[in-house]
Amino acid sequence: MKISEAKALEMRRGNQPCNYPFLEMERDEIGTSTGDYVCTRCGKAGWDGDWNKLRENKKNPEQRQRNS
Ligand SMILES: [Zn+2]
Repeated sequence: MKISEAKALEMRRGNQPCNYPFLEMERDEIGTSTGDYVCTRCGKAGWDGDWNKLRENKKNPEQRQRNS
């Protein structure tokens, strides 16, 4: 998924909760991997290929701060 697509998803999704069912490698506009992985549902990016799994067990305060 491209960065721009991830950003668009994120904007559209807004503050709705997401359980990050599936991650995809994030790529820039010319197709190079950024090293991040994004949720295909909400576009949230993380540095690890399985950050969605880790997050299930750990409440992430980051999400709350997005409600600005
Ligand atoms: Zn998501």
